[in-house]
Amino acid sequence: MTENEILDIFRKHSALLEGHFELSSGLHSDRYIQCALVLQHPEVAGPLCAELAAKLKHVSATVVAAPALGGVIVSYEVARALGVRSLFTERQDGVMTLRRGFSFRPGEPTLVVEDVITTGGSTRETITAVEQAGGKVVGAGSLIDRSGGKAYLGVPRAALVTLDVKTYNPADCPLCKSGFPAVKPGSRPKE
Ligand SMILES: [Zn+2]
Repeated sequence: MTENEILDIFRKHSALLEGHFELSSGLHSDRYIQCALVLQHPEVAGPLCAELAAKLKHVSATVVAAPALGGVIVSYEVARALGVRSLFTERQDGVMTLRRGFSFRPGEPTLVVEDVITTGGSTRETITAVEQAGGKVVGAGSLIDRSGGKAYLGVPRAALVTLDVKTYNPADCPLCKSGFPAVKPGSRPKE
């Protein structure tokens, strides 16, 4: 699948919106991504994650890990495609932690995945949690990298689509200047 074919799948499921948006951070952007709308369809999620798995097969991971909640489905489907197990980290008192009895063999080659990489923060936190638990992170992946490939991860990485999504302070948002009001995704447009 090409990047454009993948973006069309996202558009078709309203998982990629183009226009003028107010993000939950308060910043404005011309694009909004909500992977859950694609991942709710197993027949779509499976092939997309298999595509990501194929790009990362060469790192020879024997387990896939992801930050909950956003990464769980991606981890599970990538792991299914690779024929390995899938687990997740979650925040406990604000710190990304491995819970539920999940464990790694010492030095176990681990792939860390997410749905969308924005700054790479949650992937890096997951890498730290995996390594503290004894795993060795050998690669990272996401369906979408909206940092334009700039987020630092420190390991080999792959994404199905790399986008350079610009965000703006409302005070100097060029979209606001055009007079077209920002929409909060997830809320219904006013009648
Ligand atoms: Zn704006």
